[in-house]
Amino acid sequence: MVIDLSESISGLQFGDLLCKLNIYKNELSSFLIESGYHPHYVRAITLKTLNSFLCRYQYQRRHTYLAARPLGLIVDPSNSCHLKCPGCIHSEILRKTDSVDWPSGLLDQTIFSHFMAEFAPYAMFCLFFNWGEPFLNKNFYRFIRQAKEYYLYTVVSSNLSVSIDAEEIVRSGLDYLTVSLDGATAVTYQRYRRGGDFELVVENIRNIVAAKKRLGISTPNICWQFLTFQHNCREMEKAEALACKLGVNEINFAQPYDVSWGDPGIKVFQSPPGRKLLTPENVKQRIVPFHEFESLPLAFDDAFDKGFSHQLSLYKAGNIDRFDASVCKWLYQGMIMDAHGRIFPCCYAPQKNSDYEYVFSQVDPQKTGEDHFNSENYLRSRQFFAGGKGLENSQRKESYCTVCTDRKDATNVDTEKIRRYLFYYDTCLNEQVGKETIFDSDAINYLTNWD
Ligand code: SF4
Ligand code: SF4
Repeated sequence: MVIDLSESISGLQFGDLLCKLNIYKNELSSFLIESGYHPHYVRAITLKTLNSFLCRYQYQRRHTYLAARPLGLIVDPSNSCHLKCPGCIHSEILRKTDSVDWPSGLLDQTIFSHFMAEFAPYAMFCLFFNWGEPFLNKNFYRFIRQAKEYYLYTVVSSNLSVSIDAEEIVRSGLDYLTVSLDGATAVTYQRYRRGGDFELVVENIRNIVAAKKRLGISTPNICWQFLTFQHNCREMEKAEALACKLGVNEINFAQPYDVSWGDPGIKVFQSPPGRKLLTPENVKQRIVPFHEFESLPLAFDDAFDKGFSHQLSLYKAGNIDRFDASVCKWLYQGMIMDAHGRIFPCCYAPQKNSDYEYVFSQVDPQKTGEDHFNSENYLRSRQFFAGGKGLENSQRKESYCTVCTDRKDATNVDTEKIRRYLFYYDTCLNEQVGKETIFDSDAINYLTNWD
């Protein structure tokens, strides 16, 4: 192991730690470059790893002001969806009630680039889905490619009942594709995926698998996600056989949330068999697209040079160590942006006329220097959990976090994804270039154990 992320530096005072991380950043990257690692890889892995260390440190102390940046980004390339599944905000019933504040639309390139420049250098992964169909946005292939230039692990979830360019998907470098397909026949599938085209989804899968073979690239790893209901549970075996025939990598029989309020005829099938691996990933081939990205974006250099000590006085003054406070991990690990550049702390959709604030910030490409991860709503929410005082603002509504009853220790951008990231971009890359891995299991366990 080269990086020594041990308790010895985690015991430092916050200000000293930030200074130490800056020194460490330069020493470490110089050492790795001298050891023969590619300079882009070194800068990326150094910044992201030290950021995840800092994020863990600030989470454990329940800090309000974060010098750390989110580890995972969730972006909606499209707020729109052409399907109308019961229980979704795009369902007939919710469209009629008009109760959700979810304007349709597609993410603009300038907003996406602005957001990525600020957060992608530090993050490890980007999930391109929340409440819309990503492939409705024709810029989406470019978004994935851009995310890969920032060395992000990229994940997409799609109904795939949409026109796609299979080769472009493979060439984009997308790592993981979840396909929502809840049935093995068109009739069964359409009971839940209202407006979906079963044959088109199957054809799209077939085309992506063929494109992977043709191009000699093993990504994206394709996961068939089969939400289990009482009306489709008899088709699980048939779906698995079809998935094998199509060359899908895995199938996930997952129990959905109750959607009977959207359609009383749709009932959940309990205790499905879960995830099954069908075709193992070819690990050595996985990151082939990675090498096509010859340069890091300029924003990466800025972020690397800036390091961790900017606005040190602000971060130091506003933070009090509170190891014992119960807090929500979302407020530290992730950040969500919809197609209109609205920033949310987690993956709900805001309600219209709510008494609580759920939009935490707004990305505006015309403005620079805004710290969305320390917006007033973020600070007030972290402060609420940490039990501190001093950020009340009677002019504003309370944050939705103050009344939220959700599980706050289970996020979509969790530490398991850090483990996956470090595995791929360390072990896999080094298998290819024949170098020793940078992290050993102790280092990975340390970074991924936040409790
Ligand atoms: S495919 Fe997904 S986003 Fe579209 S309506 Fe169905 S659940 Fe909602
Ligand atoms: S407390 Fe609730 S609303 Fe706030 S970030 Fe956590 S899960 Fe989301």
